[in-house]
Amino acid sequence: MPITVVGSIAYDAVKTPFGERERMLGGAAVHFALAASLFDEVRVVGPVGGDFRQEDLDLISRRGVDVSDIERIDGGRTFFWRGEYGWDLNSRETLDTQLGVFEGFQPKLSESSRSSEVLFLANIQPDLQRQVRAQLPNARFVALDSMNLWIDIARDSLVSAIAGCDCLILNDAELRQLTGKPNLISAAREILSWQPSSDVPRGPSVIVAKQGEYGAALITRDGFFALPAYPLENVIDPTGAGDTFAGGFVGYIAAHPNGSGDGRPSDELLRQAMAYATVLASFNVEEFGTERVERLTQEEIAARLSELHAITQFSHVP
Ligand code: AMP
Repeated sequence: MPITVVGSIAYDAVKTPFGERERMLGGAAVHFALAASLFDEVRVVGPVGGDFRQEDLDLISRRGVDVSDIERIDGGRTFFWRGEYGWDLNSRETLDTQLGVFEGFQPKLSESSRSSEVLFLANIQPDLQRQVRAQLPNARFVALDSMNLWIDIARDSLVSAIAGCDCLILNDAELRQLTGKPNLISAAREILSWQPSSDVPRGPSVIVAKQGEYGAALITRDGFFALPAYPLENVIDPTGAGDTFAGGFVGYIAAHPNGSGDGRPSDELLRQAMAYATVLASFNVEEFGTERVERLTQEEIAARLSELHAITQFSHVP
């Protein structure tokens, strides 16, 4: 099932203890699209400025991603983010965020982007996420990501955006911040109880808590599942790991519509999607920005998935 994604398309300046890049291709929608396009057709919605390089657009479309809803605003600047990581790559400092063409952006989706059955609302202003959600009222699976900034400055809008989605993918600290609950399970349970407004059919039924180098947990109404991160000796740049994780997760679900019961993905399918998401994110952090995922092959994914399977098994002791 084709996937529509809305979110930042950016240039990032990133410094880690292992190197730096001054103006690399990034943005939540870009990282998501490069990962999800390994599974299914992806349509990207979002603005870029006149400074956006043609070679970057070509890079995204080479993966078969539909870029026709990437709107170029010639007089404007592409979204820009600058961040720095210390030795603990789990925490980073944002040094600069320039919204550029996202300021005043009104998402206009083509017929094709509105017809997707799967929608990913990547991290961006929650008002924009809601506007896009409203344009795909019949989507079968809608997932959303966000960040502490929007919890701080636009919590009410974010809560309504989440209440109109099937799945929330968020860092564990942000789940706690959003709900004011220190315990992850009770934070997830609270979100699962949020009721949607009358214009969307159902509220959240899947919560994914991203835990950086420790992995990720899945909480549904009837179940719990968790995976560690794939163990790597060399982590270079975690930027985009969360969006790459989301691309693997949502992409796998979109590509397996038969794994759904009553229109919702089964817990078995969600667990497989967690495994693919974990594997994709592990490749992302091995190099700067999109550098590693750009040239990722299906064979590499399959090999690492087998290794992840092997290291997460234990025999049941009755
Ligand atoms: P992640 O590391 O998965 O959280 O995502 C990092 C990406 O998010 C970077 O490529 C940034 O361009 C983008 N980003 C950073 N801050 C924001 C923001 N406030 N809104 C939207 N995208 C952002």
